[in-house]
Amino acid sequence: MNANDQTNDIDVNTMYQAVRSKYIGIYPTPILKIAFDLGIKVNRSNIDGDDILGFIEKDNHGKFIIHVNKKNNESEETFTIAHEIGHFVLHQDVFNDDHNLIVDYKKTMNNQKNRDNYSEIEQNRERAADEFAVKLLLPDSNVFDKGICLS
Ligand SMILES: [Zn+2]
Repeated sequence: MNANDQTNDIDVNTMYQAVRSKYIGIYPTPILKIAFDLGIKVNRSNIDGDDILGFIEKDNHGKFIIHVNKKNNESEETFTIAHEIGHFVLHQDVFNDDHNLIVDYKKTMNNQKNRDNYSEIEQNRERAADEFAVKLLLPDSNVFDKGICLS
């Protein structure tokens, strides 16, 4: 995987299937267990500002932590965790000494229209994490393929 490449549908599908195949028939998607099984810690955190849904960081021990804003409602929390798991499985190359987190905002989460100020690479990255999250949470759905916006 190379995060500098445009993430394509094959990457998302392949990684989604690799993750979801361990939880076949389990609904709703056990999102916290999936994070735990991948070795990701999930924290409900006090995050300054209501506009941040959450972020994923790689700490200096190489451990990944998803922080979700305590103020999120349940569906925001679930989607944010699924989206951050998407960053974890698809975008590990992004994390290095200079750049150890990806932050997600309410107005841009699952909303490509509000990502005008993002670079093309960032837009592709966010779109891929959204697509991964939708597939993970709605495994029998093809709503994303039909281009229906969930936000
Ligand atoms: Zn994101």
